[in-house]
Amino acid sequence: MIRNAYIHIPFCKSKCRYCAFVSVPEINKITGYVYSLLKEIADNYRGEELSTLYIGGGTPSLLPFELLSKILNKFRYAEEYECTIEVNPDDVTSILAENYAASRINRISVGVQSFDDAILSAIGRRHNAASVISAVNTLNHAGFENISIDLIYGLPGQTTSGFIDDIKRALELPVKHISLYGLKIEEGTYFAEYKPELLPDSDKQADMYLAACDELEKNGYKQYEISNFALPGYSSKHNVNYWNNNTYYGFGVSAHGYTDGFRYYNTSDIDAYMNNPVQSEYAHHVTDTERLEEEIFLGLRKADGINIDEINKKFNIDFRSRYGKIIDKYSPEFLLCAGECLRFTRKGFMLSTPILSEFL
Ligand code: SF4
Repeated sequence: MIRNAYIHIPFCKSKCRYCAFVSVPEINKITGYVYSLLKEIADNYRGEELSTLYIGGGTPSLLPFELLSKILNKFRYAEEYECTIEVNPDDVTSILAENYAASRINRISVGVQSFDDAILSAIGRRHNAASVISAVNTLNHAGFENISIDLIYGLPGQTTSGFIDDIKRALELPVKHISLYGLKIEEGTYFAEYKPELLPDSDKQADMYLAACDELEKNGYKQYEISNFALPGYSSKHNVNYWNNNTYYGFGVSAHGYTDGFRYYNTSDIDAYMNNPVQSEYAHHVTDTERLEEEIFLGLRKADGINIDEINKKFNIDFRSRYGKIIDKYSPEFLLCAGECLRFTRKGFMLSTPILSEFL
């Protein structure tokens, strides 16, 4: 039974300089794309009641509301469900907020990135700090209490104190959830070709991350994953489902899914997708070893980590004899093992990629 679904909307008015997501400015294709998406959903969705639906992008807030409604109406929903849409602050008007509030949407993720107008302009965002504040307040007045924002650290010219100012400004807003992402220069982006000057190095990024974690914790936002913080009761149920290594549908161009033991993804080519939205480009049956590795890899992203006893039972292994050397090597500075729980320390989160690779 699959209870979770992701939908990708691959359109943006312009391309941010750091962006490696699948998004194009071909707004004229939106209607055709949505009809292809509806076909994919009609063919592959089996009618389960969804616990979570996440509409990401790209910029889903570019969708005309009648097209968005067609997508939302394709699904059945559990009594308690979470339905998130990503929005660009620029697109939020009181009409959009009221339409969303009258629909199935009950959680909004606002792409903020920074409250520093000079930095926003340097990274190619179209909005400024004033439009963020206005968007969040408009959504809140329309009835949304579950609002999340994303912030990026390590941006060109950014300092630790500048980033902490961003956090403080975020905390003045009615937001229940904050995600922090470190800037990565990805191949194929504007920044990969024209490296910005004054880019904070990895030590500075680590300082920013740690200072931000402290500031958020001081204000009651609990870290529940490497990059995610929430007031009690407001963790993203959709993302927690990924980190629990559970199944989910992925609909739309470049979307990934995990159903019936197969991980699959759709083509990243919008025209190819629109010609044939039903067939995934790639599907791989996950072996037991891969499933175990994914369980560790994804589970250790969570602040609560993994439960060794549960993994032993699920995979019929002795976790400690298999991975004891790695645990000993990194405990207690980077990994903590208390009872049946194994988790990263905050310092460990910063080194999680090389440490996790030792589990594979
Ligand atoms: S709004 Fe998001 S998806 Fe669109 S270009 Fe910017 S970073 Fe990429």
